[in-house]
Amino acid sequence: MNMEKAPTNNHRKPEFPEGVKTPEGLSIGYVSLDNKFMREAATYAAENAFEGMTVTSTVLVKDGKIISKGINGDGYHQKNNRCEREGMPSGKGYELCPGCHPDNHSERVAIKKAQELGVDLSDAEAYLYGHWWSCESCMNALSEAGVKNLYLLEGGKQFFAREIEGSTQKRAELEKKILSEEL
Ligand SMILES: [Zn+2]
Ligand SMILES: [Zn+2]
Repeated sequence: MNMEKAPTNNHRKPEFPEGVKTPEGLSIGYVSLDNKFMREAATYAAENAFEGMTVTSTVLVKDGKIISKGINGDGYHQKNNRCEREGMPSGKGYELCPGCHPDNHSERVAIKKAQELGVDLSDAEAYLYGHWWSCESCMNALSEAGVKNLYLLEGGKQFFAREIEGSTQKRAELEKKILSEEL
């Protein structure tokens, strides 16, 4: 019989797109913006909002302390005020722009920063804002770095799934409230 560990701390089967596999050893949980680390991730993404681009952010936490934060592209778009893929069809040419490159997803940017600080990420937690799932290669990178728990925003799909009509607008409104501390 397949013995499964009892879910703890909001952990449950993630609502990921079909076929996306979560590595063994990485547990997925959902938290709201009342969680201070999720709120930090949301604020960081909102502060770095960039026109026409989905900004995701990852906050890495160990022993209750924030170790590092990352946004996808590591600020390339924000610093240069442009995207090298401008005018390209969506989903194409990610490797042409440092800001869009998959190696530069927020999860990996945060891992890299933590490692540069010499922090051992064993049993660390990751809080991901701006996306309703994490890509397999990033989840593998988190797991390999030692991260045990990945938290996503409870109900995040309504804000982050671009195929849902009105989601972009809803997200913009949410971030306005976060930045003005109305929420
Ligand atoms: Zn770009
Ligand atoms: Zn990724």
